[in-house]
Amino acid sequence: MNRREFVELGLAASASLVTLSPAAIANDEKPKTHTLPPLPYAYDALEPYIDAKTMELHHSKHHQAYVDGLNKAEAELAKARSSGDYATIEYWSKKAAFNGGGHFLHSMFWQIMAPPAKGGSGKIPPRLEKALVENFGTVEAFRKHFSAAAAAVEGSGWALLHCRPTDGRLLILQAENQHKLTPWGVVPIMGIDVWEHAYYLKYQNRRAEYINAWWNVVNWEKVEDNYLRSLGQ
Ligand code: MN
Repeated sequence: MNRREFVELGLAASASLVTLSPAAIANDEKPKTHTLPPLPYAYDALEPYIDAKTMELHHSKHHQAYVDGLNKAEAELAKARSSGDYATIEYWSKKAAFNGGGHFLHSMFWQIMAPPAKGGSGKIPPRLEKALVENFGTVEAFRKHFSAAAAAVEGSGWALLHCRPTDGRLLILQAENQHKLTPWGVVPIMGIDVWEHAYYLKYQNRRAEYINAWWNVVNWEKVEDNYLRSLGQ
């Protein structure tokens, strides 16, 4: 064991001692709370494709509301558990799924976009490109399918590119709201939000125009990273 390993082991041991103290155990029983992740770029960084005002409202108000809603739902479920009163469990379970879906998807959404100059319109990295071609025939066929799925979401929702780690396949699926229609066993690696709050200020009812513009700000490096991580690579 070298010195660094020894120090790390010591830190791990002291960390586990800390978590075993009565105060820490009590603390662990409290519901964990979620927080709004910072945007990895400025509100105006995706201009002219996505306007600064939309980004500001979308991140600081809409995403924040999902974070708050998820915290509230999880706290209410914990309360029900400790009181044994499960009368409202269906309501809060649905709130947890909806707001949890919103928090998760928006956290991914900010990451898989980038300013156009910084890879937004950049080249697709080779391992992701290979996977897209294997699964959809050509990159262009993938884009057409994904755009069509996004344009055709009924009401509010998302088009998502998933990886299914059990067989390594890529799937394009729609999600209504933040969570409905999603099968088990898939990992979202890329998605476009087609709720009206994502585009209405700039594009009004022209969803297809927003989808077209959005391709200019896709952070392909991050999508490939999500793809490889979903496969444990
Ligand atoms: Mn949204």
